[in-house]
Amino acid sequence: MRILNIQRMSTEDGPGLRTTVFFKGCPLKCAWCHNPESISYQLDKEWIESSCILCLDCVNICPEGAIQFIDNQIVSDRNLCTMCKKCIDICPTNALKLIGKDITVDQLHKELIKDKAYFSHGGGITLSGGEVLIQTKEVLELLKLLKNDGIHIAIDTSGYIDFSRIQEISPYVDLFLYDLKLDSNEKHIEFCGTGNQLIKDNLIKLNKLATDIWIRTPIIPNSTDSKDNIESIARFLKDENIVFEKWELCAFNNLCKDKYKRLYINWQYENSGLIEKNKLEELQGIARAVLPHEEIYSVGATKLEVTNE
Ligand code: SF4
Ligand code: SF4
Repeated sequence: MRILNIQRMSTEDGPGLRTTVFFKGCPLKCAWCHNPESISYQLDKEWIESSCILCLDCVNICPEGAIQFIDNQIVSDRNLCTMCKKCIDICPTNALKLIGKDITVDQLHKELIKDKAYFSHGGGITLSGGEVLIQTKEVLELLKLLKNDGIHIAIDTSGYIDFSRIQEISPYVDLFLYDLKLDSNEKHIEFCGTGNQLIKDNLIKLNKLATDIWIRTPIIPNSTDSKDNIESIARFLKDENIVFEKWELCAFNNLCKDKYKRLYINWQYENSGLIEKNKLEELQGIARAVLPHEEIYSVGATKLEVTNE
C-alpha cells in the first residue's frame, strides 16, 4: 500500500488521541486541500528551502536535466523527472525529500500497534488521505488485523468511491468521518473537480448500515462559506433523515501554504486569512435552525470580527 505519512497524537481525526495514517491518491482535487501532496497517487519529491545549502549536487547528478537552479531556487520539472531518486539520495542535508512511501500491510500494522497503550483511553486509529478506499483491498486486510486487536477505527473518506467498497470495509469500522463540502453540484465540480451526487447517494446508503458518522464541512472563503451552502447541506441531511453523531464546521486556515510552495504549486488561498468568529457562529446557527441537533459546532482557529469603531 502507498501512504503519505503517519501522524501520532492527533486530536482532530476522531475521538481521543489518535494515530492517523494518510494515504496517497484522491479522486477529488479540492482547491483548498490541506494535504496537496496526498492528491496524486504517484511518488513525488519536495524541496525544503531552509535545509538547502545550494551545493547543486542534485542539479549535477540528474540524468534528465529535470532539476535546475533558477533565481536562488531549486526547481524541478515534473514532465522530465523519472523519479529515479538520484537527487534525493545525493542531497547532503535532506533538503530534497521523497513524498510517499510503499509499505506492506504487515509493516504498517506493526507500526500502528506500537501506539496501542494510549488507545485504551478512548483513542484509536484513523485512516485518512487522500482517499483511503482507493486501496480497498489492502485497507481491508489492515482493518481485519486492527479489529482483531480491539482498536477503535475511524475512516476519513471523501465518499467519492463506489459504494461496494464502503460496504466491504464497514463491518470493521467504528466511525466514518464523512465530508460534505458543497451542496451545489456545479460548485462541487468547480472547486473539487467532480460532481457530488455519488457522495450524497453514498451517505444515504452508508446511513442504513449500523455505524457512527461524523459529518465534516470545511468552511472555505468564497466557496463553501456561504449561508446558502450550509443551509442546503442541513436541508439535505434533514430531508434524507441522516443520523449522525456530530457535524463539524471546520474553519479554514492557510497553515499548509508551505506545502504548496515545496510542490512548486501556486495556491489561490495562500494569503487568505482566518474566518471571522462571528461568521462561523452565524453559519452554525443557520445549520442548527434547520436541524435541531446539539452536536453541530465549529472547530478550528478564527479571528475576531474586525469593526471600524
Ligand atoms: S528524481 Fe531523478 S530524474 Fe527526477 S529530478 Fe531527481 S535525479 Fe532528476
Ligand atoms: S543537493 Fe540538496 S542541499 Fe544541495 S542544492 Fe540540491 S537540494 Fe540543496
